[in-house]
Amino acid sequence: MKNIKKILFLLAGIVLLSGCSKGADTKNSTKEDTNKEGLKVYASVYPMYDFAKKIAGDKLDVEMIMPQGIEPHGWEPDSNAIKNLENADMFIYNGAGLESWTDKVINSLSNKDLKVVEASKGVELIKSDHDEDEEEHEHEHEEVEDNKNHDATKENNNHVHEDEHDHEDHQHGPMDPHVWISPKNAKIEMENIKNAFVELDKENADYYESNYEKYAKMLDELDAKYSESLNKLPNKTIVVSHEAYGYLCKEYGLTQIGIKGVNAETEPDAKKMAEIINYIKENKIKTIFTEELIDPKVSKIIADETGCEVKVLSPIEGLSEEEIKNNEEYFSIMDKNLENLVGALK
Ligand SMILES: [Zn+2]
Repeated sequence: MKNIKKILFLLAGIVLLSGCSKGADTKNSTKEDTNKEGLKVYASVYPMYDFAKKIAGDKLDVEMIMPQGIEPHGWEPDSNAIKNLENADMFIYNGAGLESWTDKVINSLSNKDLKVVEASKGVELIKSDHDEDEEEHEHEHEEVEDNKNHDATKENNNHVHEDEHDHEDHQHGPMDPHVWISPKNAKIEMENIKNAFVELDKENADYYESNYEKYAKMLDELDAKYSESLNKLPNKTIVVSHEAYGYLCKEYGLTQIGIKGVNAETEPDAKKMAEIINYIKENKIKTIFTEELIDPKVSKIIADETGCEVKVLSPIEGLSEEEIKNNEEYFSIMDKNLENLVGALK
């Protein structure tokens, strides 16, 4: 399987290099046309796309490299995505080990003018709590680069299951990549994106600066609202389907308990299930959190067993169809998340 993927990857590269890409996919011919008019920016995953769009406004053409509505962990660019990057001026990714394919894909591009922006640069990363990470890695930022390659191999082996939202195979690497879930970190990411835009398009520098100022203020307010609302609540533990809330927990003094392993399988692991059910009963947990992009089946079974409610706590990894329809974005989802957290912890 791994070899077939490798061969396909190489073939895609050869097609691109030899320039015989015409007609290979008609979808892209329009992209090439628009590229001549303005600067083209691709963001890797939804939160980066949302932040980039907020700063870019109508001055830059921002698109997401991943398709909407799928979970980003295990996803890797197909030939269409690679072709888009060949025609792009800038690529923004989260980093912190989320997009383990970045180095490999960027190095394979013939587009050497592509500006690559790691949005999480400067964020104080925390270690991922995942069971898979028994291997010892250093905590320092510098280590993340090396570990990315290491994760890429793991991802390749596990990639086959991505359609099942298989969180057992969900590899976060040694660092928790969900940095944007804390408003303080979101501000750092937006600032990095803003700085990159200012450099890319100096003519509109003031425009990007003022957009950033506006959202930075909103993020400060969001942060204040989170600490004020969560500080006064008596309970501090949340039960979640996947441990995507490390930065939120660290910031506001909460603890997350992940059902992730259990949630991954069609046949839930009885032992883990019993453990979580006991924990919920003993600690009088009232709410189990699930996500918009994963199957809530196991959460529902546990809820039935314990009398818990099932609510959504979004890791903002991507939008569901309904969220797209309702024009949801970072701030509206963070507001809902806070509402649901308060409901669960009071
Ligand atoms: Zn995740």
